[in-house]
Amino acid sequence: MLSFHSTKYSSIFFLALVTFISACSTKKYAVTEKIYKNKAKDFSEIISSTPPKGQLYDSLNAANQEWIGSVNFGIRKPNFVVIHHTAQNSLTQTVKTFFSTTAGTSAHYVISRDGKVVHMVNDYLRANHAGVSKWGKDTDLNSSSIGIELDNNGTTDVWPEAQINSLIKLLATLKKTYNIPVANFIGHADIAPKRKNDPRNFPWKKLADAGFGYWYDNILKNPPVDFNSEMALKYIGYDTSNLPAAITAFKIHFIQSDITPKLTPVDILVLYNVYTKY
Ligand SMILES: [Zn+2]
Repeated sequence: MLSFHSTKYSSIFFLALVTFISACSTKKYAVTEKIYKNKAKDFSEIISSTPPKGQLYDSLNAANQEWIGSVNFGIRKPNFVVIHHTAQNSLTQTVKTFFSTTAGTSAHYVISRDGKVVHMVNDYLRANHAGVSKWGKDTDLNSSSIGIELDNNGTTDVWPEAQINSLIKLLATLKKTYNIPVANFIGHADIAPKRKNDPRNFPWKKLADAGFGYWYDNILKNPPVDFNSEMALKYIGYDTSNLPAAITAFKIHFIQSDITPKLTPVDILVLYNVYTKY
């Protein structure tokens, strides 16, 4: 049995150990932390410079314009959440990739298999997670969204409950903070048909049940005779310029067991049902 003093000393030792470990981890990322701060500082200078540099409103007549700063403004907020799988084997590997200037990629958040959430880019800044993408009329999802990478190899991995539960908690915070509509919780494959397939075999229904994104009902009604699948996909948000790719993207999200670029009669029932929610 431990005496009062030994409990006290072991607490002090534990605190010292925690301080030492956190100091080590701070040191481990000291270089990248400095780069982050310097880049953020550069952006803050761009935002606070008056008049804004390089922002001409009438390129034909530079003399006929004036800067008069308003006193009423805020900071732009993200309106979408794009979910990815990392296609890597560990959180450490992903974090390392997001430090690579050669890869040039990043996400706002990375969630490990055991549910740890790592925040890597301020929500108000633009992370490089979506790449060339389109959803509805939005052609710059990197500017309008929060990117969340889930540590998963994209092939054989399942989705651990701890990871999905952490994701749902994070989504709840983001939805509330930025007033993100239910429909705007989507996957990378949705916004980049043909180019991307993540997240694969993802529990979208569980997310939809929690209020993030849509899922189809148990009872599916027949669509009207003039129902146009291509128009429905487009209405939901899919880029249908390559229709087979858009169909595959839809099936990666909503069908999963078959992702061939052709709509079966059942797929059409699902599509019609999802479409009616938008
Ligand atoms: Zn992705």
